[in-house]
Amino acid sequence: MSKTLIIAFQPSEAETMRGFAQSFGEGFDVLLVTGGDCPAVGAGKVLTGGLPSTPPADSAASIASLCAGYSHIAAASTMRAKDILPRIAARLDAAMVSDIVSVDSESVFSRPTAAGAAIATVEVDAALTVLTVRPAGFGAGEERPNGPSEAVTISTDSKTERIKEAEAAGARPDLTQAKVVISGGRPLKDAETYEKLIGGLADILGGAAGATRAAVDLGIAANDLQVGQTGKVVAPDLYIAAGISGSTQHMAGIKDSKVIVAINTDGDAPIFESADFGLVMDLYEAIPQLAEKLKS
Ligand SMILES: Cc1cc2nc3c(=O)[nH]c(=O)nc-3n(C[C@H](O)[C@H](O)[C@H](O)COP(=O)(O)OP(=O)(O)OC[C@H]3O[C@@H](n4cnc5c(N)ncnc54)[C@H](O)[C@@H]3O)c2cc1C
Repeated sequence: MSKTLIIAFQPSEAETMRGFAQSFGEGFDVLLVTGGDCPAVGAGKVLTGGLPSTPPADSAASIASLCAGYSHIAAASTMRAKDILPRIAARLDAAMVSDIVSVDSESVFSRPTAAGAAIATVEVDAALTVLTVRPAGFGAGEERPNGPSEAVTISTDSKTERIKEAEAAGARPDLTQAKVVISGGRPLKDAETYEKLIGGLADILGGAAGATRAAVDLGIAANDLQVGQTGKVVAPDLYIAAGISGSTQHMAGIKDSKVIVAINTDGDAPIFESADFGLVMDLYEAIPQLAEKLKS
């Protein structure tokens, strides 16, 4: 019999994983690492870790000790999950499958490979399987009451010391959870221009701001805003790509977006092959006009 433990580093991640959890296996519990209230996802049991903030990777040993009795351990494909879950898999001698987008059976999963250009079907032969999941492929699931809560202790082995925590500028929504994402590329020139145009439009739309690796490498946008193969994977309802050529590495991070809008001066830019709507226009003219229209 299969039973899954969903690890949620923040309560909202339990909701993000609801569609997967409800459609997979024969029941699931949720571990809320930082505590808080668990959204109504239909968990058999809610284990509440109650750490004051998200833990460093050295909490993996402690979290692994809570995984007994489960056939699958799963979390949304966030940077934190990618850091901690493989460590849990190694400690428990479990199979690790990252970034799954669909499930064929309890041991056969699909995941993108080659920067999303191909889909690999992976079969595991292990008593315990650890998964990171791209939730966009599994629907939203439905509100269902949870079973009882139980307090559990999660510790870190103190090899890592958290020196400082800083809130992201402007408190925009998290890129991986946002319904609207607007990203900018190399032509944004500098951080001030990026913040004014991309950040400004993101705020008008109540969305998150993202960037290409070229923009990050040039210091135009912060590291944690990079979208793509080596950045974050996003799946918003609306993705606006401004001044972005559409490299395979960038597209690997946005292909689950429902609607892609591209603004680019070059009508032959590869991004237009994947865009639902394309605007061949200078972003320095297009974005202020768009912002003005949205405000009025
Ligand atoms: C191993 C590896 C991993 C990588 N991982 C990532 C990743 O995770 N994410 C990522 O994004 N990239 C990644 N890259 C880099 C990737 O290959 C591209 O170099 C990068 O995505 C290009 O960024 P860009 O579109 O901003 O820049 P460019 O490719 O230079 O494109 C800029 C675009 O802006 C258009 N433009 C210019 N001026 C204007 C204007 N005024 N108005 C409107 N449009 C304009 C141009 O026509 C052009 O299409 C990776 C590369 C490697 C090798």
